[in-house]
Parts: sequence; structure tokens; C-alpha cells
Amino acid sequence: MYIFLISILGLCLGSFINAFVFRLHEKSNKKYSKVNLSIVNGRSICPSCEHELGPLDLVPVIGWLLLGGKCRYCSKSISLQYPIIELLTALLFLFSFLYWPYDFGASGLVLLSLWYILLTGLISLALYDFKWLILPNKLVLSLTILWLISLIIINIGYHQYYMHLILCLISGFIIFGFFYSIFIISEGKWIGGGDVKIGFLLGLIVATPINSLLVIFIASLLGTFYSLPGMVVNKKKLSSHIPFGPFLILATILIFLFGSKLIAFYSHISI
Ligand SMILES: [Zn+2]
Repeated sequence: MYIFLISILGLCLGSFINAFVFRLHEKSNKKYSKVNLSIVNGRSICPSCEHELGPLDLVPVIGWLLLGGKCRYCSKSISLQYPIIELLTALLFLFSFLYWPYDFGASGLVLLSLWYILLTGLISLALYDFKWLILPNKLVLSLTILWLISLIIINIGYHQYYMHLILCLISGFIIFGFFYSIFIISEGKWIGGGDVKIGFLLGLIVATPINSLLVIFIASLLGTFYSLPGMVVNKKKLSSHIPFGPFLILATILIFLFGSKLIAFYSHISI
């Protein structure tokens, strides 16, 4: 039952992410000046013909399938991005629940709810970066503040809670410092400013220095795997425009959920 409800929640928030990222980008773009792009009360439109969408068109995944991937009004194809993001969000919501690394007591459940809000923001950032190679400052900053407050709320009252907070901050500065150094050394050629800024948030999330190093390692590995075929076929350089944010975010989600198990497993086999 929980699994069903969480999947539905994930699908709906995936649909929200699609709309949110589109509006966030178009607001600065001014292309759809006649359309209400408010995140709160704006209506969803077809990006091609700007026709307002009906309730049935907005049902996650099923709406897309029923329409055969084409707009009801102008027959232009609707990007596969929509169902993919909806399914991916549902999957990450489900994984978070099934492999939740904390307990399901009162504070554990509060943390799970806060994690779902953060996860929605992180997927939005990854999608934005994937599409436009930018990690919007406002969103990065809002999520950083949200998670800092969450950490304080969750940890306050625990024995030596400030030690845990300090460890989180150090972990944040490790990724931030590492990327900032690369940014300075390469004069911004090897890594984007957005990746530097999001580094602090990602370190805060994974909460230990070892996890921070693992995030950098796994994200680099994922990024390399992704760009290798392109480099071989088109002889692109590694630094040619590949968004690094989605890999960083994916690595962070994996380490947040599985980090402690991974380290336990590794220390077990290395003995
Ligand atoms: Zn249309």
C-alpha cells in the first residue's frame, strides 16, 4: 500500500518537476510573454502551440501514452523527457523508501519528508543542467538553506549534535573546495561555476568527508562513461559541453542512500 502511494506521489512530483523547470527557464527567456508562467497558479501549456492543457493530458505517463506522445491540439510530438522524468522521480522516491538508511520513527519520518522535498529540487536541478547547462543560483541556494535548516531540526537535542553539523559542513567544504580549485586552475574550462556552488550542498547531504570523496569519484566515473562514446565517435574533448551536474546529483543520491552500506561492504572485503 505504501509502495503504491509513494509511486503515485513520485509520478505527480515528476510531473511538477517538468512544469517547474520549464517555467523557471521560460520566465527568464520571455518567449511565452502572454502565458501565465507562475509556478503557483499558472496553467500548463503545450510548448509548441501554447494551448492550455486539459486535466487528462496532465496525468503523469498515462496522459503521454494516451496522446501517443503527440499534442492533442497541434499534433507536434511531446518530448520523451516528460514520461522519463515522471518515471525516474517515482523510482527514486520508491528507492528512497525501500532503502531508507534511517529509522521510521518520528524524526526519521520528518527527515524522509524533507528528503523528498530536497530530492524534488535535486531532480529539477539535474534536468535544468541537462537541458541548458546551467544550475540556477536561486534554486541551489534555496535547497542549501532548506537542507541546513533540516539538519539543525533533525539533529537538535541529540548528544553532541553540533559535532554532526560540523562534520556535514566540513563535507560540504571538501567538494566545494575541490571543485573551486579545479575551477581556478583551469580558469573555468574544466568545470562550471554552478558545479562549484552545488558542491557545498552535495557535501552537506552526504554528511561525511569519505562520502564527499566518493561523490566526486563516482560522478567523475559516470561522467566519463557518458562522454566516452561521444569522444571516440566525434573526437570531442572531455571538456566540451557535457553537463556535470546530473552526474554529481545522481552520485549524491546514491551515496546518501547506500553510502554506509558501501563503506561497510568495502571494509569487510578489505580485511
Ligand atoms: Zn500543441
